[in-house]
Amino acid sequence: MFGNFFTFAILIDILKVLIIKFMKILLFLLIYSLFVPNDGAWLLQLFSEKSQVKVVQSESVPDTLTLMFIGDVMSHSPQVDAARLQDGTYDYASCYQFLAPYIASADLCIANMEVPLAGSPYTGYPQFSCPDAMMSQLFDAGVDVFLTANNHTCDKGAKGIRRTIHVMDSLGIPHVGTYLDSTDFNQRNPLIVEKNGFRIAVLNYTYGTNGIPAPNPFIVNMLDSTEIARDIARARELKADYIVVMPHWGIEYERKQNKEQKGYANYMYECGADMVIGGHPHVVQPITLENRNELGVAQCITAYSLGNFVSNQRKRYTDGGIIVKCQLVRDTNGVIQITDYEYLPYWVYKGTCQGKYQYHILPAKHAVENCAYYDLHGADSVALNLFYKDTKALIDSFPESKFDFTSAIR
Ligand SMILES: [Zn+2]
Repeated sequence: MFGNFFTFAILIDILKVLIIKFMKILLFLLIYSLFVPNDGAWLLQLFSEKSQVKVVQSESVPDTLTLMFIGDVMSHSPQVDAARLQDGTYDYASCYQFLAPYIASADLCIANMEVPLAGSPYTGYPQFSCPDAMMSQLFDAGVDVFLTANNHTCDKGAKGIRRTIHVMDSLGIPHVGTYLDSTDFNQRNPLIVEKNGFRIAVLNYTYGTNGIPAPNPFIVNMLDSTEIARDIARARELKADYIVVMPHWGIEYERKQNKEQKGYANYMYECGADMVIGGHPHVVQPITLENRNELGVAQCITAYSLGNFVSNQRKRYTDGGIIVKCQLVRDTNGVIQITDYEYLPYWVYKGTCQGKYQYHILPAKHAVENCAYYDLHGADSVALNLFYKDTKALIDSFPESKFDFTSAIR
């Protein structure tokens, strides 16, 4: 009898140990499920047959976003003549065709529209108005956002500012820098663009408007420390993941950033900017890459001036520019890092075809290596090679793009 009792007691003990072990395993699984990246979906899957829970596996690939920045889109009168077709419309397809595959490779591409879309009559320097097609065909080529605050914003007064905004709005194109009035400003500044799960804030300021004040009630974002701090704080309030500040600044034709630009860039980072990309000098200025861990930002790319995207300027350093491209990745902890970055130097070919000017923006390296393909000879080939050499010497610590133009264009 005692023997049976002991056997029974031992069995009970073993059962107790098994139950406790099972409970421990269950507890471990529950706790573990809270910390694994796929929100415990796998645990639900274990029981899904019984519970009939339909499990959709969440993406384990981190969010990525490719950002691209294009410099100053200029429109001198010979360019307007070059784009005019016999029927009176304007076409820029041939101007953009060689860079279009590269532009299309970005998730979010931002360009500075330096020239107001003030309608006809179209004018060049010094007070510009350019055909809408110059902007809309760039949008078709893959530019997603346009900057509108620069020293030519007020060239055509109220009409130029209003019409530029209306044309972009009518095509559903996001823009930043100028506003119809304070209500428009409060509703749309800073610009937040949502793409691939990222909320990117784009801020744009200009050092001045060539002595022409913004007509009432229009607002042009001016390079001003109070405005910058206010807008960056507002971007954070609006839950921006990443803040790009794009100032129109610097001294024309200076190939190096000045003290004021460096001071402003530093200030923008102190206020919470993540990246600073500038324009205006008509020439390329250096790109710096810094670790600013003390500010909670791992890497800061500052491109002081991207140069002209397209223009009629032909002097050394002004006949081309650079595009900056970088990849943002949000890791499983939600931290956004720059994982890849590059610049693409391009050169603007100006030729004549059947008595008409033509402007082609060419990827510089590919053109240097394939002069025959682009039909480049003599002085053009010399200017292209010089621009490429000058630019590579200036942007020495930043990787050049390895984009395959051969298969993209042919
Ligand atoms: Zn400018």
